[in-house]
Amino acid sequence: MSAPDIGARERELVAQVLATDTLSGGPMLLRFEEAIARRSRRRHAIGVSSGTTGLHALVKALGIGPTETVVTTAYSFVASVNCFLYEGARPLFADIDPVSYNIDPASVEEAVASSPRPPAALLPVDVFGQPADLDRLSAIASGNGMHLIEDACEALGAEHHGRAAGSFGAAAVFAFYPNKQMTTGEGGAIVTDDDVLADSCRTLRNQGRAPGDDWLTHSVLGFNYRLDELSAALGVAQLERLDHLLTSRERVAAMYTSALASVAGVQVPRIVGETTRMSWFVYVVTLDAALDRDAVARELKAWGVSSRPYFRPIHQQPYFIERFGDLTGSLPVTEDIGRRTLALPFHGRLSDESVGFVAEALRSAIVQLGS
Ligand SMILES: *Cc1c(COP(=O)(O)O)cnc(C)c1O
Repeated sequence: MSAPDIGARERELVAQVLATDTLSGGPMLLRFEEAIARRSRRRHAIGVSSGTTGLHALVKALGIGPTETVVTTAYSFVASVNCFLYEGARPLFADIDPVSYNIDPASVEEAVASSPRPPAALLPVDVFGQPADLDRLSAIASGNGMHLIEDACEALGAEHHGRAAGSFGAAAVFAFYPNKQMTTGEGGAIVTDDDVLADSCRTLRNQGRAPGDDWLTHSVLGFNYRLDELSAALGVAQLERLDHLLTSRERVAAMYTSALASVAGVQVPRIVGETTRMSWFVYVVTLDAALDRDAVARELKAWGVSSRPYFRPIHQQPYFIERFGDLTGSLPVTEDIGRRTLALPFHGRLSDESVGFVAEALRSAIVQLGS
């Protein structure tokens, strides 16, 4: 489904770390953090072991706990909800926009109004690399005294009205798993302009050692969510090449969009006017409601083409239903889109021929099922 793009510079910087005795907590992490902060236009970046641990540390640092309600989207990867569940906070879902698939500000307002108590936070996800409607969401969050947490794990390099994804709200989180636009192996980063919040995230990441604590003093209950030097080195090299990585993905996305333009029953991804730069994370098509998405995926598989039903909404995940009951019916757009979206193989080094082959396979699969 995806492939990282690793070059000579990545090998050089990782080898540089291996030639030293410092494999964690060294200069590469600081270099990586500086580069991420600069790229996302933030004062601070805190490197962490994954996007998930970054979101969790941030929720904890903001003091969001068991008595709290938060508003977020169910059309996402589970980590953006799990970070609240770890702390016992209760997610309230707003529905999504039928074009961008991002959380719908009007539905957020309804969720806030219907909440038994004022929600503590609003967490929008920049779905598939397209920023959520962050101007409107920021206004709703500040008007209601909610922390805005931007899950930018899929959107490094994207821009909303000319402003960098990750630069909105109290803080944002990026992720660097190997299928993302750039990778550190496992890894993530929290970015913020708030000095106190940054210190708190650093403390939680490092076993509760507050600034000034020595190695065996733990001021608070913390975690080991650190990012090692080898991962940070990979990240420094990838960031140097980020514009190239993003451009290659953009080229592949454009090839898909033109190859699929004439395929009946397939809606290609749509970029809204507020998105001044798309950062392509995945290439997800939406099938006509009359088509059986899972049957299309099986047909593709017979052609040797992998695909994924993407996203299966979080409120319809088995673990979520077990805990909160079946909320199916409460999020009509999320549920409709969740039944019809299919991610195709996607990364920046896919050839024209491969994209053409996938498009042909999809066309045939649909024809086959229609007949
Ligand atoms: C990738 C991703 C994360 C974090 O994933 P990790 O695998 O923990 O790095 C969080 N939220 C969203 C929306 C993601 O796509």
